Amino acid sequence: MNQIETDVLIIGAGPAGAMAAALLQKQGFKLLVVEKQAFPRFVIGESMLPSCMNLLQEAGLLDAVEQQHFMRKYGAVFLRGNETCNFDFSSQFTHGFTYTYQVPRAEFDKTLADTVAARGVEILYRHSIVAVNFQATHASATVEPSGGSRFEVRAKFILDCSGYGRVLPRLLDLEKPSDFPVRESLFTHVTGDVRPPEREQGKVWICIHPADAWTWIIPFSNGRTSIGVVARPEFFRKFPGDPETQLRAMVMSDPNTAKRLANMQIVMPPQRISGYSCGVKQFYGDRFALVGNATEFLDPIFSSGVALALDSAQRAAHALTRQLRGEVVDWQVDYADHVQHGIDTFRAFVLAWYDNRLPEIFFSANRNPDIMRQVCSVLAGYVWDKTNPYVTQADRALGLLAKILKSKMQREVA
Ligand code: FAD
Repeated sequence: MNQIETDVLIIGAGPAGAMAAALLQKQGFKLLVVEKQAFPRFVIGESMLPSCMNLLQEAGLLDAVEQQHFMRKYGAVFLRGNETCNFDFSSQFTHGFTYTYQVPRAEFDKTLADTVAARGVEILYRHSIVAVNFQATHASATVEPSGGSRFEVRAKFILDCSGYGRVLPRLLDLEKPSDFPVRESLFTHVTGDVRPPEREQGKVWICIHPADAWTWIIPFSNGRTSIGVVARPEFFRKFPGDPETQLRAMVMSDPNTAKRLANMQIVMPPQRISGYSCGVKQFYGDRFALVGNATEFLDPIFSSGVALALDSAQRAAHALTRQLRGEVVDWQVDYADHVQHGIDTFRAFVLAWYDNRLPEIFFSANRNPDIMRQVCSVLAGYVWDKTNPYVTQADRALGLLAKILKSKMQREVA
């Protein structure tokens, strides 16, 4: 078997892989990225958060993204019947970007990967990592080209950015089941979406369905719109028929989605993902680290996936740079604790969404503008700002706020 030597082997060329490659390439390390699929390829996860912009900028990837003229996203609108809660990223507590993009991932991911490839990073497309072996002096991985003969890569370190492929969690038995109940999503791309005007046009809409589900509406600049319904599997069983029939019936049975999507034409076969929440027993080990979705994936509700993928990639690249230069790195403190903190802040919000505390806060008549700015910063992805109480004590702060708003409402009714 042939053998290639490199400093860092990166598994996967999605946002996490491209981000890590961009930062490590800047430091002059020898890299090899191995990607299972040919790009462009479809993947779900199309609404970004403003925090992504800082990270793309640091990696020198933002200009390439800006040149694609993706749809600008200035915020998020939550709708339930005739109630609305409109967050605008210009009204947030943390100092940061006030916009981001809605991105068809086929184009977005290819833009990032092509940009790092143009800087000299080698990406092997249609090659899969199928086995790994860790030794005291190095790591080695077996690469399987699509339709070709296997070969070995010998690296000082492996970054697993394989997303849903979860290569190292599977090969090293690091998988940990999520404590979230199984949820399912049915999604597609449509045309014919009647969009709100101007600044509101690019905001993501999250519509709460009357029967315990929610729908995303993510508009793209190419005239298409991503829509997806998320619920427990039993919800989908109430809508018989093929996936297209199901989606249409679900959209038409919520007045907010029905109004906006009455004339939609489905332009991509609907896809279904079930039980996507997952975790891992550890984030790193000798000569490897897990990054992005290969760590933990919570839920699509707050579009946290790409933001966490980019942030963990940045953090891992910084730690690895120091290690490869001979410094002793405390991966627990410098990497795992930091990534876990971001995940846990989003976890508190996801839990509060599904147990109805957040909808009660969002649709309360007594919303406090200062508090909503703090909440808005979390929705913008600034989940490491220790000056924000909705970051440092997210669960407690949300619980308290929901309680206060509820008792205020009860007093007003009485
Ligand atoms: P990926 O984007 O999955 O990239 C991993 C790459 O690794 C892939 O290209 C894959 O081909 C490659 N790979 C896999 N196995 C191997 C192998 N054996 N060898 C080599 N390469 C391999 N996130 C958001 O930010 N916004 C959203 O609106 C959003 N919506 C979502 C909706 C749903 C229903 C779900 C389930 C998720 C959503 N997400 C969203 C999450 C988002 O999809 C992921 O968090 C994001 O894609 C993670 O990026 P990544 O780089 O870690 O992995």
